[in-house]
Amino acid sequence: MLSVTVLIDGQGLQFDMATYTLEHLMDAGIDPKRIDYLFFTHLHADHILGYPEYAFMRSVWGATEPARVFGPIGTGNMVAGARQFNSVHIKALPEFMENVLSEGKNRGAQVEGIRRGFDSEVKEIDGGGVVLETDAFTVTATPVLHSVPSFAFRVDSRYGSVVVSGDTAPSLDVVDLAMNADVLIHEATLSELSWRGMNNIKLSEGLRSDYEKNRSGHTSTVELGKIARRAKVKKLVAYHLPTFASELASQQMLKTQLSSAPFSSTLKADHIAAIKRYYKDPLYLAEPMMVIKVGD
Ligand SMILES: [Zn+2]
Ligand SMILES: [Zn+2]
Repeated sequence: MLSVTVLIDGQGLQFDMATYTLEHLMDAGIDPKRIDYLFFTHLHADHILGYPEYAFMRSVWGATEPARVFGPIGTGNMVAGARQFNSVHIKALPEFMENVLSEGKNRGAQVEGIRRGFDSEVKEIDGGGVVLETDAFTVTATPVLHSVPSFAFRVDSRYGSVVVSGDTAPSLDVVDLAMNADVLIHEATLSELSWRGMNNIKLSEGLRSDYEKNRSGHTSTVELGKIARRAKVKKLVAYHLPTFASELASQQMLKTQLSSAPFSSTLKADHIAAIKRYYKDPLYLAEPMMVIKVGD
């Protein structure tokens, strides 16, 4: 699950949209219509479920230009699907707004703007390199190692650099992309305890291959420490960490297929200790509404 907003001089760049993205933006005092650029690392549900809500509310909040959306092949379909999902309300809203705006001087233009605010211009990306360059910032992408097409992104501006890994197995391309970055926001999906536990138990062929497949698209906490150290990043934010509850759920699930439970309960302190074996401070474990300043 991921949702990161990079603010540069009041302009918002959004990376993935997990559930509650809109609520968290509004709670943080960020006007949704200030976010004109959206980047999707990949199209797994835990990275896009907040998009249909955002896409709808952006126009309601007064956006009059289409959002620009970047993501892997399939992003166009996802965006079209969200529009279809919202179609009943989208159809009705301009008429409602027309009534509201009937006293306004540029009524026609305003209604037209509301319609445009529902739209998104999609650019699907199929390889690495610069995907967007403006006077204020440059966004560069690199493909990463996940079970579906997936990208890491780097933003450079006069304030510094931020890298978002997306979901990925440990990747030297991410190390290159993140070299000397001010902030690296990187996934860590496998706690050290669960990973070690899984490696030490007997699994059926099917379960082992499911596990290997899943493992191959994600990073462990210790591996994340190594990546951050190698890339010499100034701040590290770990996201996608297994929670205590999710580890217990996995344990329950596996209990039905295994004679002994492979997991120990994992706490925040374990994640921190595992990452810090290779990367010291400043380290943050991602939380809703967390604010990280880029640069000093
Ligand atoms: Zn994910
Ligand atoms: Zn994923």
